[in-house]
Amino acid sequence: MGDLLEVYRRKRDFTRTPEPAGATGWSPDGRRFVVQRHRARRLHYDLRFEVDGVLVSWAVPKGPTLDPTVRRLAMHVEDHPVEYLHFEGVIPEGEYGGGDVIVWDTGTWEPVKADDPHAAIEGGELHAEVHGEKLHGRLVLVRRGGDEGADPWMLLHKRDQYAVEGWDPEEHPRSVLSGRTNDEVKADPDRMWRSDVPAAEASVSLLPESLPDEAIDELEALGTQGTWEVFGRRLKVTNLDKVLFPGDPPVTKRELLAYAARIAPVALPYLEGRPLNLHRYPDGADRKGFWHKQRPRHAPSWLGSWDNPEADRGETTTYVVADEPAALVWTANFGALEWHPWTSRAEAPHAPTYALIDLDPGERTSWADLMALARLHRTALDHRGVTARAKVTGRRGIQIWVPIAEGYSFDETRGWVERLSRTVGQVVPELVSWKWEVKERKGLARLDYTQNAINKTLVAPYSPRPAAGAPVSVPIAWDELDDPDLRPDRWTIRTVLDRLAKRGDPFRALLGTAQRLPEIT
Ligand code: MN
Repeated sequence: MGDLLEVYRRKRDFTRTPEPAGATGWSPDGRRFVVQRHRARRLHYDLRFEVDGVLVSWAVPKGPTLDPTVRRLAMHVEDHPVEYLHFEGVIPEGEYGGGDVIVWDTGTWEPVKADDPHAAIEGGELHAEVHGEKLHGRLVLVRRGGDEGADPWMLLHKRDQYAVEGWDPEEHPRSVLSGRTNDEVKADPDRMWRSDVPAAEASVSLLPESLPDEAIDELEALGTQGTWEVFGRRLKVTNLDKVLFPGDPPVTKRELLAYAARIAPVALPYLEGRPLNLHRYPDGADRKGFWHKQRPRHAPSWLGSWDNPEADRGETTTYVVADEPAALVWTANFGALEWHPWTSRAEAPHAPTYALIDLDPGERTSWADLMALARLHRTALDHRGVTARAKVTGRRGIQIWVPIAEGYSFDETRGWVERLSRTVGQVVPELVSWKWEVKERKGLARLDYTQNAINKTLVAPYSPRPAAGAPVSVPIAWDELDDPDLRPDRWTIRTVLDRLAKRGDPFRALLGTAQRLPEIT
């Protein structure tokens, strides 16, 4: 299977489990079609029509278009199994088609001027009315006749009500399923296609395995304390019925532990390999909390740790590093209601891996004002071609995380974020204060670039926050900044898992993205 597979296997080691693709087959809405943007040896678009239980396929180097004035070469290639219909992910190097694939468009189609599409294809001419998200209207495929072994066809779009002259598929590069680009999928794929096994098993999940329900049942069955076996570790858990968050009903420590275990496979990629500062509230969110950075002596031996070689006298010498899902459950049992990973990794503590933009509302900043600031940052980043994502903090704020390539210092990321935010601030000076002292800000928002420093942290994605109802800091898709129902504390530990099931994790696009920051002057 080649080196790539081995890399993924290592990367997902503790949780990786192959799982068959969801059942695909007969569709009640008629015949389906798909266009996959596939970067193999060369970029091409695979146009596939569902016909009698297989995907009849053409590889279109320049991609299908709505432009009725152009004719595109379309190489007729072998039929693909229907299981491949909505495949999006990677194909290992060295395999047939090795590279990355996104579902560039999909929908339904019907043959025109032919009752039997198989016969039409045999005859060398297929007219297809397609109903996709990008492609609409009449596509025509005509066999050109070619050399031995090759089967070139010509693809065109009829001049109908859907035709758009000058329409270029490369200007619409994102997946219609995930909203991700090929680069983003390649950086952190959800699935891998194995062509060496039967089609029903070929789409293999690369996502971490979720916690089995039985593990939660075992936690429920414990008294006020006991030993909980979770993610292969035996953890002593205590004070399980203690109320940690006010709410209706209040949130107990048992519920927090269950949340930590359920969210751990999702949250871990943002924590692993990094020193972790814990914000502890052992007596609950309505009592005063405190920072706890020193890894306690009583911590289990398997819990990851990092010794800071630069620690001065009186400073933290040994930090917790959450390198496996059970570690997050341990922090929750330890009374940590917030997880704050360093922006750098333990192996290179002076090297940030993200540039962080912290939109910090003042007393007079309305939610609408904060959204306006976030949208301006979105525009500024998008304009410069920077990959980034926002998250709500679970309290009042919004943060934007920008993944970066190796080689930056904190001085550089801090300077870059400051220049970006000052550019944005110039657009809406009435909303922003650059004053250091809170009372001098006159209630205005602060665009805080100063957190880009060693051992300064923002709250982790999916961390709970110490407030009533146990709100959570939740990554959002960019278009959610236009959602009138968005709120900074919209999701809690009771609701965020449902959201994840429906919307996925928008921050996954950041994992593995290594980008240079464009100059801002
Ligand atoms: Mn292909």
